Amino acid sequence: MSEAQPKIVIVGAGLAGLACARVLAAAGRPFTILEASNAVGGRVRTDEVDGFLLDRGFQIFLPGYPEARRVLDYEALDLRSIYRGADVFVKNRFHRMADPLAHPLAALSNFNDVIASLRDKWTTLLLRKEVFGLRAPPVDIQEMETEDYLRDFGFSEKMIDRFFRPFFGGVFLEKDLRTSARMMLFLFAMFDRAGSALPARGMQAIPEQLAQALPPGSLRLNAPVAAVRAGEVTLDTGEVFHADHVIVAVSEEVAHRLLPATDNTPLLPSRSTTCMYFATDSLPPGDPILYLDGDGRGPVNSVLALSRVSPHYAPPGQHLLSASIIGAPSSTELEQVVREQMSQWFGADAVSKWRQLRTYQIRHAQPESRQLRLGEGPLASVIQPGLYRCGDWCENISINGALLSGRRCGEAVMRALGEPSPD
Ligand SMILES: Cc1cc2nc3c(=O)[nH]c(=O)nc-3n(C[C@H](O)[C@H](O)[C@H](O)COP(=O)(O)OP(=O)(O)OC[C@H]3O[C@@H](n4cnc5c(N)ncnc54)[C@H](O)[C@@H]3O)c2cc1C
Repeated sequence: MSEAQPKIVIVGAGLAGLACARVLAAAGRPFTILEASNAVGGRVRTDEVDGFLLDRGFQIFLPGYPEARRVLDYEALDLRSIYRGADVFVKNRFHRMADPLAHPLAALSNFNDVIASLRDKWTTLLLRKEVFGLRAPPVDIQEMETEDYLRDFGFSEKMIDRFFRPFFGGVFLEKDLRTSARMMLFLFAMFDRAGSALPARGMQAIPEQLAQALPPGSLRLNAPVAAVRAGEVTLDTGEVFHADHVIVAVSEEVAHRLLPATDNTPLLPSRSTTCMYFATDSLPPGDPILYLDGDGRGPVNSVLALSRVSPHYAPPGQHLLSASIIGAPSSTELEQVVREQMSQWFGADAVSKWRQLRTYQIRHAQPESRQLRLGEGPLASVIQPGLYRCGDWCENISINGALLSGRRCGEAVMRALGEPSPD
């Protein structure tokens, strides 16, 4: 008679949980994933509303991510590139910052010093050289805040305020640029390596691709977990799962709730973001480029015409725009204020024809703690024998960090089972 397989339960089917499952599936180990919501993806979800594809909060994919390259089939995702550069709104008009390597003509013909001086452009090339070949946040540079790093590296205040603050502020969801410079350098290297993109049919295509490879019957949706301890997982319904290996693959704040006795590091407030989607029948032809708030007046930090990146984001004859705000303002006049700002950017006549489709406020978009200090290295996957954790907050806050953390956790389980991971 064959030996009984150890029981493995994964809590959470976000990218980390799915990446962990991928390792176990490759080794032929059976497992059950318990996911609280009605679909996989966690923070990477897309809603279909009247034929429009609305990602839950503005997000982009960086094809340069090493772990994503390792586990995802890019061709199947049908990635659509976003223009390498940005149109930055400063002093009542847009100024194009084109990547001189990707768009040399645009970079030359738009040359001006409203945002970047000649020295800033030279310094940008030096920064590109600095990060060349980087595949992870560099551990050999001193831990410091992004803003200090950029200043020390030689960028002008103008370049920091008008370009880096809205650009990386939008990525980090904080405009003080207090986030670790190590993370900034890693992301800068990723943008430099392969730009940014969207899957043609929305961001959720990423977790769905991973979920497609799950063994049949291994995923249980609408199964919120109420309590976890080594050897046992209890659902909200009271149903109990006994398991030899329990992997907690939830966000940081949920992990703090589920793992109170084992993880006592203080929980800092999460970073939040708001994304307002607008539809319009007509949009002048243009590049699929990010529009940035270089004046810093807000509330909108960036805008992207998603249907210019991929026409699948909107029904035929329609266009979809996202307006992203850092934080979660509660004002009832938010739409009005956004429209006023957008009228300055794109003209009152055009914006009066925009129809608001839906607004997403993501309160727990990114955990603060792992953004500030990356020097401590990844959090250990094994909490105690038989109890594991993974998620972006254990590695670094990104799609890549979540995927990498999930894989490392799956490998830790395989080691505990006495098998090197076949992946
Ligand atoms: C608005 C927004 C924009 C972003 N933009 C980018 C970007 O442009 N590029 C980038 O690289 N990264 C971006 N990120 C970050 C990236 O999406 C995350 O780092 C990553 O998706 C985290 O994955 P995860 O698996 O660690 O956690 P999660 O995605 O949070 O997954 C956790 C899973 O656990 C489930 N769960 C929670 N509680 C329970 C429970 N009690 N029982 C069972 N299941 C439970 C959840 O439903 C979820 O499916 C963005 C995030 C947000 C929110």
